[in-house]
Amino acid sequence: MESVVRRFGTPLYIYSARHIDQRLKLFHRAFGPIAHLVCYAVKANSTLAILDLLARRGAGFDVVSGGELERVLSVDRAAATRIVFSGVGKTAPEMDLALRSGILLFNVESEGELELLAERAAKLRTRARIALRVNPDVFAETHPYISTGMREHKFGIDIRRARAVYRKAGKYLEPSGVSVHIGSQIRSADPFGAAARRVARLIVELRKDGHAIRLMDVGGGLGVEYHPDRAFDAEEKVCQYAAALIPIVESLGSLRLLLEPGRFLVAQAGALLSRVLYVKKNGEKTFVIVDSAMNDLLRPALYQAYHEIVPVAPAQSSRKAVADVVGPVCETGDFFARDRTLPVLKPGDLVAILDTGAYGMSLASNYNSRPRPAEVLVEGKRVRLIRRRETIDEMLALERV
Ligand SMILES: *Cc1c(COP(=O)(O)O)cnc(C)c1O
Repeated sequence: MESVVRRFGTPLYIYSARHIDQRLKLFHRAFGPIAHLVCYAVKANSTLAILDLLARRGAGFDVVSGGELERVLSVDRAAATRIVFSGVGKTAPEMDLALRSGILLFNVESEGELELLAERAAKLRTRARIALRVNPDVFAETHPYISTGMREHKFGIDIRRARAVYRKAGKYLEPSGVSVHIGSQIRSADPFGAAARRVARLIVELRKDGHAIRLMDVGGGLGVEYHPDRAFDAEEKVCQYAAALIPIVESLGSLRLLLEPGRFLVAQAGALLSRVLYVKKNGEKTFVIVDSAMNDLLRPALYQAYHEIVPVAPAQSSRKAVADVVGPVCETGDFFARDRTLPVLKPGDLVAILDTGAYGMSLASNYNSRPRPAEVLVEGKRVRLIRRRETIDEMLALERV
C-alpha cells in the first residue's frame, strides 16, 4: 500500500475489480432462475473505469441525469439498450438525449414529466418505453435522507393513482413496465417483498387495461454492513433478496426483472487512503487530523455514517487509544470517526477508511477549494490510475474575474 501511495499520493481512492465482479456474479447466480437485468445505479460511483468494468460484464445502468447517461454512453454506446433513466427532474434536453440514444426505459415520476416526455418523443418522431415509478407507501428502516418509498416523499407517483396516469400515456409513450425504489441501505428483504407485491397487483390491473407490461423494476437499495463487528454475508443477503422477489415475478408470467443495485456492488470494493498530518490534544480529546476531508468523503457528515478506519503498514502500534479522526475542512461536521478506539497513530502514518466505494468519490466536491482525489483500480496484480488527481489550475479554469 505504501508503494501505491508513493506513486499516486493521498488522498487516494482504491478499488478492487475482483470484488465488484464477485458482487455482480452473486446477483446473476441468485436471480439466475428468472429473466433479469442488473442496471447498476451509476450515482453510487460513476467513474468511467468502474462503468466500463460493469459494461464489459453485460450489466445495464440506472442513470439519473444527462451527465450520467453521457458517462455510460462514452464507455459503451451499445449499452444504451440496457439503460433505465430515473429521477424526479428530467429536463427536455436530457429526455432528447435519452430518446435519441434509444434507452431501454424511462422511469417517469410525475404527470408533468409524462406530458413533457410525450411532447419530446412526438417532436423526435419516436416512441419512448415508459414505466411509472410508483410510490408504494412502504416503510423501510434506514436513514431518513435515503428513505424514498413513502407517500410524504418527493419520489414517484401514488400507487393508487397510477392506473389513471398510465391511461394518459398516448401514442408516443409505450407503457412497458412498473418501477419502484423504496430507499437505500435497507438491510432486510421484507420491505422489498412488500413493495414488489403491491407493484405486482398493479401490473395485473394494468394488463387488464390492455398495457403490455413486460418489465418490473424493483429499484436498488440493498444494504451492506459497515460495522466490522456485525456479521455480514453478502451471498446470503442477495439470496434472501432474490427469495423475496422471484416468486412474485414468477406469478406474473412473462416479465423481465430489472434490479438497480448501487451500493451493494461497489461500497465494499473501495477504500480511501489518507495520511495522518497531525495528532493534537484538546483537553480530554485526541484529534487525528488526516489529509482527506468531507469534500472527499461526505457520508459521515451527511448521514452520520460509520466507516471502519484501519492503519496501513508501517503503522504497527499495538497500543490503542480513543480519538476523533477528522479532516482539515473548517466545519465541525468534517469528521470520519468520533471517540473511536484505534491503534495509536502518529504523523506520517497511513490509514484506510474502509467501504467507501459507493457514494464516496461520486459525492466529492471542491469545498474549501480542495482538488478532488485520485482513484486507482486493482486488477489482479496490476494497480492502474483511473482518475488522476485534480489540479488547482483545473479547479480555477471555469472562472473569470
Ligand atoms: C440511488 C438509487 C439506486 C441505488 O441505490 P443503492 O442503495 O445504492 O442500491 C437505485 N435506483 C434509484 C432510482 C436510485 O435513486
